[in-house]
Amino acid sequence: MRREDTRRLSLFSFALHLTPYASLFIDPPAAVLYSDTVMERRKTKQIQLGKVKVGGDAPITVQSMTKTDTRDARATVQQIWDLEAAGCDIVRVAVPVREAAEQLGEIKKKIRVPLIADIHFNYKLALIALEQGVDGLRLNPGNIGARKYVEEVVKAASERRIPIRIGVNAGSLEKDLLQKYSGPTAEGMVESGLRHIRILEDAGYQEIKISLKASNPLMMIEAYRMLASKVDYPFHLGVTEAGTPAVGTIKSAIGLGALLAEGIGDTIRVSLAADPVEEVRVAREILKALGLKKEGLTFVACPSCGRADVDLVALAKAVEEKMLSYSNLNIHVAVMGCEVNGPGEARAADLGVAGGKGIGLIFKRGEVIRKVPEAQIVDALMEEVRKFAAEKEAEERASTIEDQPHRSA
Ligand code: SF4
Repeated sequence: MRREDTRRLSLFSFALHLTPYASLFIDPPAAVLYSDTVMERRKTKQIQLGKVKVGGDAPITVQSMTKTDTRDARATVQQIWDLEAAGCDIVRVAVPVREAAEQLGEIKKKIRVPLIADIHFNYKLALIALEQGVDGLRLNPGNIGARKYVEEVVKAASERRIPIRIGVNAGSLEKDLLQKYSGPTAEGMVESGLRHIRILEDAGYQEIKISLKASNPLMMIEAYRMLASKVDYPFHLGVTEAGTPAVGTIKSAIGLGALLAEGIGDTIRVSLAADPVEEVRVAREILKALGLKKEGLTFVACPSCGRADVDLVALAKAVEEKMLSYSNLNIHVAVMGCEVNGPGEARAADLGVAGGKGIGLIFKRGEVIRKVPEAQIVDALMEEVRKFAAEKEAEERASTIEDQPHRSA
């Protein structure tokens, strides 16, 4: 199959699966079509945000942004914990005022994921954020005033080797570029990005990553493709203002999916008008659907049909919701509606359920282990998930002990 055909087929399959009912995904065949030989990743420089590497051969990471008032450190830390539990690798917080910047150290002390400060216009906030120990900055150097201010920020960032993300947004392009290109365009976004890059490079800084976001997936796809041939800095991908989960999931999957399928993209953020945990869940599903993320939860559910013996839609939703707190567990869970195709899929999973007449058969690694009334399926399955998680933990503990060097008597 030619690469172009593969790409087209995969996107078609991808779009079919990413419906508003994202909870009912079946692992798409796209993941199979994209073998390592088909998808060549764009070669980029590597930068480091705290303990997390971005670019080069580092795994593609998932980012999100808190929706709390950053001045409220307690609420912000709580949301960051929720994001981390959902599988978020990097978190960004808005820093619109000095009081928010001054809370960053307090927040940083209580979290494990790298913290990025999102700053606009005011270079002093960037300096405070760096003093407070953030792991990354998002700011556009062309928007923070005179060159001496940029140099001051670059000096403080380079002393700590803190990367700066240049975040170009189609909705806030410079006036002259809007005039030159008669409105927001991919060309204008790329030109804006190159301007900001040049400012940082002229100041002697190259710890950079770049995003070129638009609410129109086609525009952002074009912009990233164009810039990919001009620079080798890592890319943060995103469709901005994507909307509610129903629409935003589709737009993000199209925009991010198309680029990732071409090997473009080093870290991703799905922007949704929803709880940020939902953004992380969708981002992880996009990576999983493309075979770019293997670890963590894989959740499979059949779409249901006239053969379903149980209320599959309600069952799948209930299980998916309860599985959210197991997002980082390496487990494959299948929820199937009937005994026709159900047992096969359920058997392939670590844990699965196949509906029967008013009952559910619970499978574990291919074996039927329980038969329960429909009303008890969710509880029974979750009980098995807890046992599975405990077994995994014990296995990991045992292998860590085995790996430790033996002490001589
Ligand atoms: Fe229908 Fe059964 Fe397939 Fe679900 S598993 S879609 S209920 S045939």
